[in-house]
Amino acid sequence: MIKSSITIPISATVEMHDLATQKRLAGEKIFNLSAGEPVIPTPAEIKNAALEALKRNKTLYPPVSGIPPLRQAAVEWMNKNHKAHYNFKNCLVVNGGKFGLYLLFQTLMQKGKEVLIPSPFWTSYPDLVRLFGGKPKIIPTKESKGWKITAQDILKRATAKTRILILNNASNPTGTIYTKTELSKILATAKKLKLTIISDEVYSGLIYDKQRFVSCCEFPQISQDLIVIQSCSKNFAMTGWRVGFVFAPENIIRTLSALTSQSTSGVSTLSQWAALAALSADQRLMNHINKLMAKRRDVFFKTFNALFKTKIPPPKSGLYGFIPLSALVHDEKDSSKFCFNALKQANVAIVPGKAFGQEGYVRFSFGAPEKDLKQGLKALADFCKRYSH
Ligand code: PLP
Repeated sequence: MIKSSITIPISATVEMHDLATQKRLAGEKIFNLSAGEPVIPTPAEIKNAALEALKRNKTLYPPVSGIPPLRQAAVEWMNKNHKAHYNFKNCLVVNGGKFGLYLLFQTLMQKGKEVLIPSPFWTSYPDLVRLFGGKPKIIPTKESKGWKITAQDILKRATAKTRILILNNASNPTGTIYTKTELSKILATAKKLKLTIISDEVYSGLIYDKQRFVSCCEFPQISQDLIVIQSCSKNFAMTGWRVGFVFAPENIIRTLSALTSQSTSGVSTLSQWAALAALSADQRLMNHINKLMAKRRDVFFKTFNALFKTKIPPPKSGLYGFIPLSALVHDEKDSSKFCFNALKQANVAIVPGKAFGQEGYVRFSFGAPEKDLKQGLKALADFCKRYSH
């Protein structure tokens, strides 16, 4: 038997998604409220750019760090929209934000060193840290405090071994967004402690109710300690194209590029030309996706609150409702058990809060089509009425 030399769990969200797919293949109708993506076609303008690139035979290997016009457009996009001061050499095109994070931890992690991760967290962070020998140091937050960390939380948890702080602004799964004042205090403390800040900003385009998104790039005093993860996935409904970006000081980009040259050899050339069309449209296409997702969010929460007789306010950003289990059923504390039963018995796929470090909650994605949101919630409400464990 061939033995694997590493043990790493499959991402919990992927596992639920796969289970739902299996049921669907068996001919059952599944209400998939677990997938972290806007379930809409990529805008025609972006698709046409890929078709055009195909016609022009843009089918050879890409430059490892990304095609130059895309790297240039990406830094201009960051400089214009997020007040960054990047140049071409500060940007690497990667196979989705997730692979950017993978490369980063491979590059930055040293055995036994700690990474501060606010919880609830995107499920991949702790596993990626562990994969490269690091130690995730979780900072718990409370719903009553808007699921936010403070500078004091960092001071309380950081030790001599702490090297990195991950910020996920806007957050998956809670939809939390930080104000400029809050960020300024957190970043000043991180700088004092000489931490590297990884700011995962892949939901920056999905901000609702006229809230302002503040990128960590707006703080030039930390630019040498800051790495930003961006992606076309959520902002442009391009999850399957696998185009993300790492923005970082030049020396880090050089190392990540070298790793890329020994692994993927870069991102699909056609996808890069498509991403160029997305970024070149500036806010127009992003606004289009944002509007569609804001509408789905409203449908989701209106339906949910009516069915479950609750008054849960919609999140200010992202694609998710992060909802206490107690709003759905009484006497159930185990979110994994609840979600597996919901999938098995009601054909509704949702993700247990445990996967995000927060037992007692479940995550719903409202990126699904409105009809699925309504029918899925109805099926879940019926299931909850007869739920016993
Ligand atoms: N970061 C967060 C917080 C996410 O939720 C996701 C995807 O769900 C990613 C990064 C990775 O996205 P992608 O690899 O599609 O760019």
